Amino acid sequence: MNERECAVCGWVYDPASGDDDGCVPPGVDFDALPSGWTCPRCGAAKERFVRKASPVDAIVDAYRKADARMRGLPVHNPTLTVEAVGRRVVGGHLVFALVTPWFLNVIVVGPTPPRHGDTLELAFSSGSFELHRGDEGCPHLALPLLSPVLDLADQAAARAVALEALRLICGPSEPEPAKTPEPRPKVVARRALFGALLGGPK
Ligand code: FE
Repeated sequence: MNERECAVCGWVYDPASGDDDGCVPPGVDFDALPSGWTCPRCGAAKERFVRKASPVDAIVDAYRKADARMRGLPVHNPTLTVEAVGRRVVGGHLVFALVTPWFLNVIVVGPTPPRHGDTLELAFSSGSFELHRGDEGCPHLALPLLSPVLDLADQAAARAVALEALRLICGPSEPEPAKTPEPRPKVVARRALFGALLGGPK
């Protein structure tokens, strides 16, 4: 059962919660709501509700809109498109790489984003990284990797670099459980990560 969002006010109908005000018990699918049901917050008709976009779709959509404004700028690589690559769940959080024509970032959805200007340190299997708040599409955390991305020849090359970055940061998709307690991971220098990504000195 999927959540639906009021296109007028943003209120979300969650089938798991139902709608107390409308006397809809938990467990009722949106499609099963009576045709006369309306948004409990703004009174909009049922027809005004839309499928709630997943966080990945919301972030990709936001950057596709930004892409239209970036075209033609010197930092824009016209051979690339906005794409979410290698999505996975790490430590209970959704993690993926975001390829755009002007940057490559790792995105984490789940932890409470810090205030603007602050960073949040998150531990991955390779160490800890400082992530920045982003609000494009939905609140998330961003780990900047490459910008600009003019040296990436095409989308396949960008995808390959993105997947390698995720592998270096998050480790293999099914890491072996640690046999002994791990020491607190150190903050990994981004320069070392870029060196590994680009084949330079480790
Ligand atoms: Fe509404």
